[in-house]
Amino acid sequence: MDDRVVQTVPVSSVTIDPPLGRLPMKVIWPDGALFIPNDASACAAALAPALPARFGSCLHRLERHWPMIGVSLMVTLLLCIGFFTHGIPWLSRALVVVIPSPVAQHVGEHVLDTLDDHFLLPSQLSKAQQQAVRAQFEALQTRLGPFPVPPRLLFRASESGPNAFALSDGTVIVLDSLVTLAETPAQLESVLLHELGHVQHEHVMQAMVRSVLLSVSVMVITGESSGVIDTLSGAGVFVMSQGYSREAEEEADAYAASHMRALYGTVAPMKAMFEALHESVATQGDEEEAVPQWLMTHPRLVERIEALGE
Ligand SMILES: [Zn+2]
Repeated sequence: MDDRVVQTVPVSSVTIDPPLGRLPMKVIWPDGALFIPNDASACAAALAPALPARFGSCLHRLERHWPMIGVSLMVTLLLCIGFFTHGIPWLSRALVVVIPSPVAQHVGEHVLDTLDDHFLLPSQLSKAQQQAVRAQFEALQTRLGPFPVPPRLLFRASESGPNAFALSDGTVIVLDSLVTLAETPAQLESVLLHELGHVQHEHVMQAMVRSVLLSVSVMVITGESSGVIDTLSGAGVFVMSQGYSREAEEEADAYAASHMRALYGTVAPMKAMFEALHESVATQGDEEEAVPQWLMTHPRLVERIEALGE
């Protein structure tokens, strides 16, 4: 009993380390002596006036409360998911508006060069055929403008299936096989309108900004960019951008459908064109070269045909 030391010091001169989760409360005397109370609550009650507000607070209770820890993990997870599903798309749209147009121009030219070097061949369409399509394209452009970047039309050929695509600089490329697949000018116009919808909504730049944001976010969250994480994030980025491009497809379809109704009073030519495209993909199925490009860039064709209604 007598080896106990009684020391009296003002409460303000001791340092109180509040308990953190399962770590105990510590009281440190001015001379460095350490006191760890068995009963932190009783000690806290006695020292109440000198304790930091945090002790005994909600936060402290939360730190020890497993269901609350579970809930906060869930909330964090939901916030993360929300950031990827809503935050990044929103941010991409906002950023595309402020990215100077020379960037879109430069990227578009670079992509075209790459396509021309590796995938595309010169068009075999006659001058008259090209002129007819060009006249259609220019009439649409005049009718629907202004566009964020001025659209231009290029003709190319390819060994893969019929396709058309837009680049970030407003270039719309149509493949010979698509022009010949269309049975009427109105059918071809529906595809041109769809691609002009991508140009009008700046989908290409949005998709590129989004994939950059996704890669950077995954790197920041995981804190590394090598090995397994790299592979995973690569896959994740791919899946996410596929999801987004479906939204873009729907937006471009809606754009085309509304203008088809305004021009022709019906979306029937557009449906016929989509059905022809769907069949062309189906019939190519067995061939070596037939990675259905149209399926990759234009997923869920059947659902999209149904979505057009009457
Ligand atoms: Zn599209």
